[in-house]
Amino acid sequence: MITRHEAYDLSRRNTFGMKVSCRLYVEVTEPEDLLALDFDTLPQPVFVMGGGSNLLFTGDFPGTVLHMGNTENRFLDSALPGSARNDRTTAPAEGKSTQTEGPAPVISTKVGGPALVISTKAEGRVEKSLVRIPAGVVFDDFCAWAAEEGLWGSENLSLIPGEVGASAVQNIGAYGVEAKDIIDTVHAFDLRERRFVDIPGADCGYGYRTSNFKTVWKGRYIIIAVTFRLSLAPTPVLDYGGVRKAIEARFLDSALPGSARNDKTAVPAEGHSTKTEGPDPVIPTKTEGPAPVIPSAAKESDVVMPDLIGHLSPRMIRETIIGIREKKLPDPAKIGSAGSFFCNPVIEKEHFARIVTLAKAENGPDYEVPHYEVGEKVKVPAAWMIDQCGFKGMRLGGAQVYPNQPLVIVNATGDATPQDIIALEQRVIDTIQEKYGITLHPEVEHV
Ligand SMILES: Cc1cc2nc3c(=O)[nH]c(=O)nc-3n(C[C@H](O)[C@H](O)[C@H](O)COP(=O)(O)OP(=O)(O)OC[C@H]3O[C@@H](n4cnc5c(N)ncnc54)[C@H](O)[C@@H]3O)c2cc1C
Repeated sequence: MITRHEAYDLSRRNTFGMKVSCRLYVEVTEPEDLLALDFDTLPQPVFVMGGGSNLLFTGDFPGTVLHMGNTENRFLDSALPGSARNDRTTAPAEGKSTQTEGPAPVISTKVGGPALVISTKAEGRVEKSLVRIPAGVVFDDFCAWAAEEGLWGSENLSLIPGEVGASAVQNIGAYGVEAKDIIDTVHAFDLRERRFVDIPGADCGYGYRTSNFKTVWKGRYIIIAVTFRLSLAPTPVLDYGGVRKAIEARFLDSALPGSARNDKTAVPAEGHSTKTEGPDPVIPTKTEGPAPVIPSAAKESDVVMPDLIGHLSPRMIRETIIGIREKKLPDPAKIGSAGSFFCNPVIEKEHFARIVTLAKAENGPDYEVPHYEVGEKVKVPAAWMIDQCGFKGMRLGGAQVYPNQPLVIVNATGDATPQDIIALEQRVIDTIQEKYGITLHPEVEHV
């Protein structure tokens, strides 16, 4: 179904709460409808949005805002050539060879409709599950469902606002996990060719909060669904952002020997290393949702978590992550924001050395500047610099640098204008440039 609204009020459709409108708002609930939509006759430009949680509308939008409101897998596979169900040749060749286990079981979910699930075999046992989730599903509903099903992979991304479609555009990330780690295939409508395509995750050009959808493919694809590769075997990622300590604090007393085992989704992680898979990062380069302002020396993998590790479930980690996030980040239902406003800059080592000298002169010789090594370069948390410049809690009009996390700019009064936000953004950029010689770039997309 296609619904159209002219002069549509977007204030409840963007988490910043900007009081703006668009000339035409089009909501599409069935991917097939995209074939029927005459894009050339829509007011231009056409902007595809999800939940509006990474956007700053800088004023009324003169064209069409299109939203994929599909939340069910009603789209027939026969209409989606090369879908995850019918054609596994488009999947990245990474990992062990997999084999589809008979006809795909369709299981009922709370994420708005049946998620298409395909279990795969590796070395004789079921190990991975491919689940196809429609673009319009709220991403956290998907995380909640996966955790309840005992499927690993998305639990660290719990409570990130927004929808499934955008997760594949943004390569969302938090607490050591990025969407790219679990994206198998992105299903999209190609506006140029006017046909549906399946794009292997490995071809999407994923990087830190970026993808080809944001750069070279900008404006070309409307994402209709994403197939995620989840794991039935435990794959806990605990080494970032205080997760390990928080799990200990939350579950250690109660979990052993009874309650973790009472959790119906708890799976003993037999022989599973407490370290995360893949390279052991010296630094949490992937950690997002605002980067922790901690000295790089404070590596959490040094913290021992006794037998609890063997009884973790995705649900326990999800609960823990939600607990951490609720303390740090503004709840979009109560205070408007778009999450981390700025990207963390990556600079040359010599440049970083100059910043260290300056910081020690200001804070004393023992002061340690938080940083993460990224190859030959250094990532410096933008939150630290903003804090050092005294911006924490600063207000300009209705806009404020969030006191609990200076990487976030909030709509403190509820009636901040786009100009308030932009003025504060510019003040921060100019001050950081002057003091540290670094140009901060916004992570939030200005529309
Ligand atoms: C309080 C708060 C905390 C946050 N924490 C995090 C965090 O920890 N980690 C993190 O990575 N992000 C975080 N964010 C940012 C935000 O949640 C993510 O960027 C999210 O993926 C945006 O989803 P959305 O559906 O709201 O997309 P929107 O903001 O509506 O759109 C984002 C981009 O995706 C495109 N897009 C959306 N849907 C589609 C589609 N179907 N097809 C094609 N393009 C599409 C849009 O054109 C736009 O370019 C946070 C935001 C808030 C408000």
